[in-house]
Amino acid sequence: KANRKFHTDDTIVEVLGKKIGGGHFAVMAGPCSVESEPQILEVAESVMQSGATFLRGGAFKPRTSPYAFQGLEKYGIDFLLECKKKYGIPIVTEIMGISDIPLFEDVDIIQVGARNMQNFRLLKELGKLKQPILLKRGLANTIEELLMSAEYIMSGGNENVILCERGIRTFETYTRNTFDVSAIPMLKRLSHLPVIADPSHAAGLDWMVEPLAKAAIAAGADGLMIEVHNDPPHALSDGKQSLTPTRFSEVMKSLKAYMQLE
Ligand code: PEP
Ligand code: MN
Repeated sequence: KANRKFHTDDTIVEVLGKKIGGGHFAVMAGPCSVESEPQILEVAESVMQSGATFLRGGAFKPRTSPYAFQGLEKYGIDFLLECKKKYGIPIVTEIMGISDIPLFEDVDIIQVGARNMQNFRLLKELGKLKQPILLKRGLANTIEELLMSAEYIMSGGNENVILCERGIRTFETYTRNTFDVSAIPMLKRLSHLPVIADPSHAAGLDWMVEPLAKAAIAAGADGLMIEVHNDPPHALSDGKQSLTPTRFSEVMKSLKAYMQLE
């Protein structure tokens, strides 16, 4: 179902009037973690003003250490919904388990993180939902495996899948992951699904987000996911790769020449 051979036109995913794919570009921006209601409201307002089309924020966080901040869970989703109500911006947030599905009823795009890309039972359940699914490439997964995971969701009846290249594990340690820019044209050739890039998790470094975002656009990406935090040094997760709202606004200005935002 994800194969371009049987579906030559680009799939356009549409949420609350915002389109992704088929020439429509989306920017999903916001903090790694939703940390409090004022924090997410502040970031939401600033990223919207800079031109972001979606607000991202993690409520359920897949952390390496069980002692690290795990997310505000249900409250995190409630605070994102507050932002949606106040500013009308659609929201994207990550799901980690099947039992949490009821909490995601009003979430506009449900994210499957890299660590759950091959959680096949979760993918099958998401296939029964109506909301678009943002499927991130696993840390050590091939392009073929990413497409097969999309197939799990689509075969259940939910054909609104957005693919995301977010960097993969290699021997390199200067960056958090290695941004596989070649995955973008390859995925666009093999599949009709929209493909976005996440330069924040690829680089792991705030100053590298802008050049990688430009590379992604040049390679044909349909959108970007960028982490933005009101106070990166004190972020509860991924501060090193997070842009301040001011920096995000500058990056958006410099990207404007390359992208046609909805
Ligand atoms: C995230 O988007 O904050 C995240 C955890 O991303 P990934 O699954 O790509 O590591
Ligand atoms: Mn993150």
